[in-house]
Amino acid sequence: MRTDNVEYTTFSGWIDPPSDILPPLTEDLTCDVAVIGGGMGGMATALRLAERGQDVVLLEAEFCGYGSSSRNAGQVAGAPGGDLRLLSLFSGKKMPGMVRLAENSARFVEDLITTHDIDCDYEPNGMVFGAVSRGQMFRVRTLAKILHRAGGHGKVGTSEELGIPRGFVGGMREGEGGMLNPGKLARGVRRALLSSNARVFERTKVTDVTRDHGQVVISTPRSDVRANKVVLATNAYSGEWDVTPKRLSVPMWIIEVETEPIEPGRLDELGWDSRSGIVTQHQIMENYRLTSRNTIVLGVRRLERGKTFPLPAKAPDPELVEELASAFATRFPSLADVAMERAWGGWIAITSSWLSIAGEIDGNIYYSIACNGHGLAQAPYVGSLIADLIVDGSRHEDLEGIWASAPKFPPFMMMGPLGLRTIWAVDRFNDLVNGSRRRARRRTAPTT
Ligand SMILES: Cc1cc2nc3c(=O)[nH]c(=O)nc-3n(C[C@H](O)[C@H](O)[C@H](O)COP(=O)(O)OP(=O)(O)OC[C@H]3O[C@@H](n4cnc5c(N)ncnc54)[C@H](O)[C@@H]3O)c2cc1C
Repeated sequence: MRTDNVEYTTFSGWIDPPSDILPPLTEDLTCDVAVIGGGMGGMATALRLAERGQDVVLLEAEFCGYGSSSRNAGQVAGAPGGDLRLLSLFSGKKMPGMVRLAENSARFVEDLITTHDIDCDYEPNGMVFGAVSRGQMFRVRTLAKILHRAGGHGKVGTSEELGIPRGFVGGMREGEGGMLNPGKLARGVRRALLSSNARVFERTKVTDVTRDHGQVVISTPRSDVRANKVVLATNAYSGEWDVTPKRLSVPMWIIEVETEPIEPGRLDELGWDSRSGIVTQHQIMENYRLTSRNTIVLGVRRLERGKTFPLPAKAPDPELVEELASAFATRFPSLADVAMERAWGGWIAITSSWLSIAGEIDGNIYYSIACNGHGLAQAPYVGSLIADLIVDGSRHEDLEGIWASAPKFPPFMMMGPLGLRTIWAVDRFNDLVNGSRRRARRRTAPTT
């Protein structure tokens, strides 16, 4: 495992920043709807509003696609994020709605790609809940039952049956979704947005959101925007203003690492014929996926809670990159010599229930958190539903299912540094036990 030449970046490994970043807002203006934040969520909201003839302004602190939207693993999930066992235990009634939301979100992104002719290397091959041990395989079977009971789709099988590397015991492939290059997707949606009638201002950091005579006043360093309605689409950065609901979410920092290009012949030997992206069944998952440039992107394994706003621009901690590289060598022993080439990270927002949330404050400020590290598809879909709500005045059933009737949320459990470290330690203990069981099985296996 080689990590000595890793390029650490504070943006993304998928794409460079755009060369045509738009100028900031310098004059006061008014509009009907203002969208704050230009990730997939904010861009899809503004695009939909513009397509529906609304007078919309989007304000983005850096450039559209700067946040998680260009940094994620590019796995378009077709099932809810989080631990489905806990979700079904504590939020059982919401499960069918969450499953439908996840599947419709994946289809929404596929439509977005087709409608705007976005070249983002999309492969509709369904994400796999991968098991690295027999214990995880037991968990996968339980999750599959929960998913099916809630109306979802997933095929359980061995690694051979699912066409995933033999270092995994097996898993469950989700019925919808697949994988793509998220940087290219975000760039394509940005292009569509800039061609629409929406007025977009980049390099425009909103410093406050307040109310005045029934309107919302959005302050930026040089000027103000007055809007009748506002959509907060700032994801993990949402805790910055007094107007944001308290305890809506906590920001967590997670990272991705990419290997150097690997010879196609060596990739073929893995048996990864489906090319499906994989997320392991640890409490804090590991993710693995192939890319169109013959590399493997891997990530997460540890969550680090953001402490203060504004959230800093960060590069990954080399110690965590080494830890991920070592996990990679365990899951892909035949590629243990492959070097890690680049590493990046981003901020995700986690809600206390691990469910997606959307809501409204006093009739004219809309917010959503969609959803807990699985928002690549859900954030834009929910954003488009909020746009439709603003135009039509009624909520789609998928929005209804995640709607918070009052902007009040319970405290977070196990999300402090000690709780997160404990969860990480449980995962590592299970890995150790599974490693020694695997070695013992190999020792006692009959030789031919
Ligand atoms: C490393 C990583 C891996 C992930 N992997 C996956 C995956 O494989 N599949 C999946 O479904 N999801 C994944 N996610 C989660 C997914 O990327 C997010 O849920 C989704 O991109 C959220 O989109 P968004 O538009 O809500 O937020 P963001 O893309 O974060 O956009 C928020 C925007 O708001 C802007 N902003 C913030 N504050 C202000 C301000 N004050 N004024 C103006 N603008 C502001 C930011 O600059 C940013 O551009 C991953 C995330 C990360 C970080």
